[in-house]
Amino acid sequence: MRLRFAPSPTGYPHVGGARTALFNWLLARRSGGAFLLRVEDTDRNRSRPEHVDAILSGLSWLGIGWDEEPVFQADGLDRHRRDALRLLETGRAYRDFTTQAEFAKARDAAVEAGTGTVARLSREMAARVPPDESRRRAEAGEPFAVRFLVPDGTTEWHDLVHGPTRFQNAQIDDFVILRSDGTPTYNLAVVSDDAAMAITHVVRGDDHISNTPKQILLYEALGETVPAFGHLPMILGPDGKRLSKRHGAQAVDAYEDEGILPEAMANFLALLGWSPGSDEELLSREEMVAQFSLERVLKKGAVFDREKLWWMNGQYIARMDPGERAAALRDRLARDGVDSDRVALSREAFERMATALAPRSRTLTEMAAMSRPYIGPVREYDPKAARKAWYRDRGAAVATLSAVRDVLAATPWDADALEAALRTLAAERGIGAGKVFQPLRVALTGLSASPGIFDVLLILGRARSLRRVERAVDYIKTSG
Ligand code: GLU
Repeated sequence: MRLRFAPSPTGYPHVGGARTALFNWLLARRSGGAFLLRVEDTDRNRSRPEHVDAILSGLSWLGIGWDEEPVFQADGLDRHRRDALRLLETGRAYRDFTTQAEFAKARDAAVEAGTGTVARLSREMAARVPPDESRRRAEAGEPFAVRFLVPDGTTEWHDLVHGPTRFQNAQIDDFVILRSDGTPTYNLAVVSDDAAMAITHVVRGDDHISNTPKQILLYEALGETVPAFGHLPMILGPDGKRLSKRHGAQAVDAYEDEGILPEAMANFLALLGWSPGSDEELLSREEMVAQFSLERVLKKGAVFDREKLWWMNGQYIARMDPGERAAALRDRLARDGVDSDRVALSREAFERMATALAPRSRTLTEMAAMSRPYIGPVREYDPKAARKAWYRDRGAAVATLSAVRDVLAATPWDADALEAALRTLAAERGIGAGKVFQPLRVALTGLSASPGIFDVLLILGRARSLRRVERAVDYIKTSG
């Protein structure tokens, strides 16, 4: 199998394009074939080099590597023209000297007269110019478009997703293949390129389905082998409408910015329209490659569920190797300008923190935000947390935290010993353990929620923990 992804660099790569690329890549890897990249940059006004860069880096981020050198469609202009002129020579296409204004006038007249079929109007108008005259005008330099002469009959293919698909050729206009300025149109360029690249399977979005009969007719007229086609279902928002920014769909790099892991993103994209046939939703790259097939691609639209992406990402964060997770968190902090080599945590404590925060983090960004009280000072106490844990009974809070301070100073620094000592303290004071842990949590983190309190103590270490408790005691005495 030789497959390709053919993005137009007219914008930043989005979810739909990334999904198309991934499905092609999975098929290529599964079959041991090739996955090629073709940048469709013939629209000079709308194509931008920064979009090309974003497409390449987005694919690399997702772990979608391509084979062979990327092809730039604009480099094939001469071949596109040659193919169009070949169709003209073989009588499969014709010259059209009609201007747009002339055509519009004739179309309005035909509609008015109720003759109905506008589809063959260009052909009828072109037929009024005898062949000799047509050649003479072309040689004299008069501009003309080249239109494909759509044959009678029907065009059918076995779509790899939708099954047998057929179009009546009578519904297809004699479409332009070469504009009067000499530039090829989309359908001609795609067919010429796919044939030159020896593409065997064209897998792309449903929005291209009406182009497919035209392209099949072009392959046949050019005497090229027609590839297989598969059309992927559109991606929809939760409201059933076509996915847009409104639904939280963004360019691929925005997900990276949000702290989505590429493996989670790829897994999520794979399930947009494909199902492995089991309930398992978390699939490694190898599992996806081993199980992917177009037979299990849905025919109807696939719903993009942002919450699911976040959930999935949280699952990936929770399952990461601790060292890798710590490294990912360091990278994330570095983006925010935090040099994790200069924070107050040892490497071991940093990894412990990343592990402790993992079950609470759906994204790396959330994790980085939650790491703030450990990598740096507690700058303020969350007022609600302080009110609940401290100010309901200020005297009790001061007394408890002072006693906690002494216990922390005297207890061996491991989780079991600390737990036993703090529980004993609670029992001695005749209060529930929560009445010890919660004031302590606010003192250590400034927050009402954190990883388990013994994890917090081990992450911070004895000296920082003691300082934080002492500072909280002073603060409670003097504040509010
Ligand atoms: N360049 C087209 C697009 O971005 C894709 C063409 C194709 O896959 O055939 O929609």
